[in-house]
Amino acid sequence: MSKQSVRDIDVAGQKVLVRVDFNVPQTSDGQVADDRRIRGALPTLKAVLDRGGSLILVSHLGRPSGDPATDAPFRLDPVAARLGELIGQPVKKVGDTIGPEAQAACSALQPGGIVVLENVRFNKGEKKGDPAFAAKLAGLADCYVNDAFGTCHRDEASMVAVPEQFPADRRGIGFLVEKELEILDTLLRFPKHPYVAVMGGAKVSDKILVIENLLKKVDRLLIGGAMTYTFLAAQGVPIGSSRVEADKLDLARHVLEMAGEKIALPSDHLIADKPAARAQTRVVGRAEIPDGWFGMDIGPTTAAEYAAIIKQAGTVVWNGPMGMFEVEAFAAGTRAVAEAMAASPAVTAVGGGESAEAVEKFGLAEKVSHVSTGGGAFLESLEGKAFNSLKVIPDR
Ligand code: ADP
Ligand code: MG
Repeated sequence: MSKQSVRDIDVAGQKVLVRVDFNVPQTSDGQVADDRRIRGALPTLKAVLDRGGSLILVSHLGRPSGDPATDAPFRLDPVAARLGELIGQPVKKVGDTIGPEAQAACSALQPGGIVVLENVRFNKGEKKGDPAFAAKLAGLADCYVNDAFGTCHRDEASMVAVPEQFPADRRGIGFLVEKELEILDTLLRFPKHPYVAVMGGAKVSDKILVIENLLKKVDRLLIGGAMTYTFLAAQGVPIGSSRVEADKLDLARHVLEMAGEKIALPSDHLIADKPAARAQTRVVGRAEIPDGWFGMDIGPTTAAEYAAIIKQAGTVVWNGPMGMFEVEAFAAGTRAVAEAMAASPAVTAVGGGESAEAVEKFGLAEKVSHVSTGGGAFLESLEGKAFNSLKVIPDR
């Protein structure tokens, strides 16, 4: 099931509204700290320009309050400036989204031109999915392309009500979204076996729907990270002072029962006398965490076991660091999993805020098959959810 894409739309002479994800990290003085998301949109943008279309770009940035006095840091000017440098042509940034400036710039737009509208979340109608706002925004363009995977799980106006304003043959996805959907198809429908899921991170409760859905599909589920200790506590294994969701032990027991032999919990742990850099550390066996000590990472034996399983897999999906990788002393387990994924011949996909950050930090992002650009959208997809933003784009 593939979606109509920017490739399928005849954009020559058309004004194409592209919903991009330019929600980039910013420095304290408001500059673009990391332009990966802007670079990621370039193939879609060039595909429109090269075929004689023009671009009207719509994005959100941060969480503006709606008060112009405090929202200045969320204006898209630095983003538009960086886009201009990257794409090598002038970019017209306007000060509103559907107001007179936007209307004038869009009506003057010529083939090959680029307009960047102001942060779409400056408009109250965006979050509410307001059809009147959507109609005004859609009225600026002739076609619609969604290349904002990280926002696809949201029903905001620019994601759902705006594309609904266009005829079906003038709605499509961009290349970034297309690549995300292709990998999700592999992960959810056509995985090559053995299929291995690696789950870690902070809480079982955050990931429970993903775990339940993936358990129906995977051959192995490897657990690491802080969620380990909720599972161990549920089995009555001592966990010292490790991070635990004490009110989720029943949930953890339910997962253990459902998973049976598929689930692997760490056979050793890296523990520390405090959950911080410059702590004293030790490696202990599965049920040997002393009182007062903190489980901070999977141990070296576990890391080697997990790496071996990953290297023999056909498909691997990973969400959630194996330990508090932000502290170097607790990063070895997460690094071992990332390196095993990079070295594995399997289709390897990583998603989630900190998980993606870890893979980038280790310099391995190019060596795995896919690092998802959508934290929440990736996890909700793995839960099996279908998004309204994609339902409104016709199948091919
Ligand atoms: P993601 O954003 O990839 O979905 P999560 O948000 O679930 O991942 O969890 C990431 C966080 O979990 C990281 O910031 C990491 O420091 C923390 N974490 C992982 N293992 C441990 C641990 N053993 N103790 C404390 N924190 C941990
Ligand atoms: Mg996170």
